[in-house]
Amino acid sequence: MIRTVEQYLESLNDGREIWCLGEKVSDVRTHPILGNIIKTAALDYVFPNHPEYRDLFVTQDEQGEDVNFLLTAPKSSEDLLRRRECFVAAMRSGGGVLLHCMGADALAAFTVTANSMDRELGTGYSERVENYRKLLMKQDLGITGAVTDVKGDRSLHPSRQKQHQDYYLRVVDRQDDGIIVRGAKVHISASPCANELLCLPCRTHGEEDKDYALAFAVPVNTPGVKLLAVEPVSRTYGEEGLFDYPKTSTRPPTESLIVFDDVFVPWERVFMCGEWQFSRTLAYAFASYHRLFGTCKMVGKLEAITGAAALVADYNGVDKADHVRKKLAWMAMITHMVKELGKAACLDPEKGFGHDVAMPNRMSINSAKYTFASNFHQMCQYAQDIAGGLSTTVPTYRDWSNQEIRPYIEKYLSAKDGVPTEDRLRLMRLIKDMTGNYWQIDTIHGEGSMAAQQMFLYGSADWDLLKAAARRSADIDGWQDDPVYGSLLSTDQVKMPPVDESYKSIPESKR
Ligand SMILES: Cc1cc2nc3c(=O)[nH]c(=O)nc-3n(C[C@H](O)[C@H](O)[C@H](O)COP(=O)(O)OP(=O)(O)OC[C@H]3O[C@@H](n4cnc5c(N)ncnc54)[C@H](O)[C@@H]3O)c2cc1C
Repeated sequence: MIRTVEQYLESLNDGREIWCLGEKVSDVRTHPILGNIIKTAALDYVFPNHPEYRDLFVTQDEQGEDVNFLLTAPKSSEDLLRRRECFVAAMRSGGGVLLHCMGADALAAFTVTANSMDRELGTGYSERVENYRKLLMKQDLGITGAVTDVKGDRSLHPSRQKQHQDYYLRVVDRQDDGIIVRGAKVHISASPCANELLCLPCRTHGEEDKDYALAFAVPVNTPGVKLLAVEPVSRTYGEEGLFDYPKTSTRPPTESLIVFDDVFVPWERVFMCGEWQFSRTLAYAFASYHRLFGTCKMVGKLEAITGAAALVADYNGVDKADHVRKKLAWMAMITHMVKELGKAACLDPEKGFGHDVAMPNRMSINSAKYTFASNFHQMCQYAQDIAGGLSTTVPTYRDWSNQEIRPYIEKYLSAKDGVPTEDRLRLMRLIKDMTGNYWQIDTIHGEGSMAAQQMFLYGSADWDLLKAAARRSADIDGWQDDPVYGSLLSTDQVKMPPVDESYKSIPESKR
């Protein structure tokens, strides 16, 4: 089924426990801050109902019923490219797929891992995952992925933590009809607007930590689930918010700290419970899928920040300056690289799981995530440099709306002839908003910190090929067995006439 926006909004009035700025929220839809998150998330239900986007976002299940494409398991390069297209379209629009990115990535990772566990351990998780997937499709539920544990002392494994044993979400009781879980997940995006939370481990676990090797899904309104929403960047919305914080008032932070205070989960919703050997498969599969989303998320952001830097150069009259053009060229290059690396990850997917599922290429997707995470602060520096100091001291909507002071702002904060002062102010506010700390930190840590990508890149690089390249270049034996470097042609195959040794310019030793 494909729900309407109204049906989605109605589903959120379900008694969920959410806190925002120290107050308990009675209805997320009407809350002055959280209501903006819900509005952004509701775009998830606009796309599939919109005639122009329907073909992209809607597919059919085995019974021929319309379902959201993002809830299906990607099986091919084409599926991954279509998933990417959904993500990019939504992120460029400034909303949407909030409810079908982390959750859809977690669901895809459940599928990969359940198949592996069933094959190697004889468990029956695949059927559970597929039944759960059917439920999501049938009810068209909004889902999010809760992966990151609060972790306590990072140097200690979960069961070795000193202050308590709940820094990582764990099973505390196994009963006939289900399990009881305790712990907390942190920075979980889209949580106030989701219907379901899909929980999985954020790291690999050893046998001593098998109670933490845990994956399951629960509705957000399950007793014992408590959401503590993060502080908003902008506390002004509507016309004023749009002027002052054009990005973060329309797409506010959606994260929460989620506490699981002895929550009951029925067995049919449990997708890993104790199979510690597979927590690695699950965490890694999620990371690969989710970095594809992260890369698509960044396409819209990088295009906007690069475009803002180019536009502000025009507005300020510095668009022809050599140093400005060099900075803009670099920004355009990073934007292009991230876009293309994301596409490359879909064109050459990982398929070797012994079943019908495709995962983004590890090298490409981690290169994409690392490229934007490690360069975003430099992008911000360039945008701020080109924009000038006004990108932080720019007046607000309230200043601009005050008729007594507006003429001064109009006169003195104009720049190039022909550019309305209001446009320049709006652009400066955008740069201030986009280069602020929420996004800088999101860029580094969202989809995993940079060390995580380095770990994947080191683990996935084809070191044999790279070393064979070096051996062949240095004429050290060993490259001949490499499938690529061993079978290449060389100049040895070119028969040349004998060298004329009469030239004096050639040293005697070389003759
Ligand atoms: C805006 C935002 C949205 C997010 N959305 C989601 C979401 O929807 N779902 C979700 O599950 N998560 C989400 N995350 C979480 C994100 O994946 C984590 O922030 C990220 O994995 C880093 O974890 P951390 O914040 O606990 O930092 P830490 O793990 O404390 O990392 C800080 C530094 O310590 C290093 N470090 C940590 N542990 C070790 C170790 N054992 N050895 C060596 N170095 C170590 C890290 O590499 C990093 O350099 C989001 C984060 C942000 C900022």
